[in-house]
Amino acid sequence: MEFYIVLFMLFTFILALYLFYHLYLYLVTDGRYHLYKYRPFPQRYRDYLERWFPFYNLLPRELKRNFHACVLTFMEEKEFIGVGIEVDDYKKLLIAANACLLTAGRDRCEYKHVHTIILYPEAVVKREQIVTGYVVSEENRVLLGEAWQGGAVVLSWRDLILGDLNPRDGRNVGFHEFAHQLDMEDGFPDGTPELPWRLYPLWSQVMEREYKKIERLYREGKRSVLDRYGITSPAEFFAVATEAFFEKPRRLKEEEPELYTLLELYYRVDPAQWEGETTSS
Ligand SMILES: [Zn+2]
Repeated sequence: MEFYIVLFMLFTFILALYLFYHLYLYLVTDGRYHLYKYRPFPQRYRDYLERWFPFYNLLPRELKRNFHACVLTFMEEKEFIGVGIEVDDYKKLLIAANACLLTAGRDRCEYKHVHTIILYPEAVVKREQIVTGYVVSEENRVLLGEAWQGGAVVLSWRDLILGDLNPRDGRNVGFHEFAHQLDMEDGFPDGTPELPWRLYPLWSQVMEREYKKIERLYREGKRSVLDRYGITSPAEFFAVATEAFFEKPRRLKEEEPELYTLLELYYRVDPAQWEGETTSS
């Protein structure tokens, strides 16, 4: 009998901790986010984004209030660490803009689990072990960015800027790494972010089908709007699909309509309606 009482108390304690943590996040982060919705967004930030973040000009007016509030909350709450580079307000602003563009369709602040952004001036070369059967070799990998499971994001400033200034080439390291963080919000880098319950079955069906289809296309030597890197794993597939969804939305909608609709349901935006892309690009 005593065993069940201890078990019950332990369960109650864990449940209380969980509820307290979420209440804390709601009060602090969401509270701050909702306050910022009613504060003016500084003109100097608007000017900077108009020059360096072309997506800002594409974002529909009705989504800008969410976007502004998310950006200000993100800039205030996250720790930014520069390695060989000074992180000023404008660098924080551009990083936050990359994160918040993805979630502009939601009226809440995401990325609560993300706490640190580590910024390098340019890409980092990392020595990695490659295991092939019984053979272990090492090779250099050039990293433009990386998303860590504990809630940190590593970015190359040079590549972040280049990704944003080419908004229609299908590559954007900022979107890619923050998509990984959305994926890991539930604790698992498995290509399935936190979803409304009703969306889970559709998500796994469509993602599995699309993954196999893109794998087949590349095996047959054909082209795809989705970068080949996406078929490395389901987590990379979601990150690469996110890049295509925002950078080549009309082509993605044309070539992979099911995948487009799924991402539209998840992100709650329809970038194919935004200006600035031709389907032939
Ligand atoms: Zn990745």
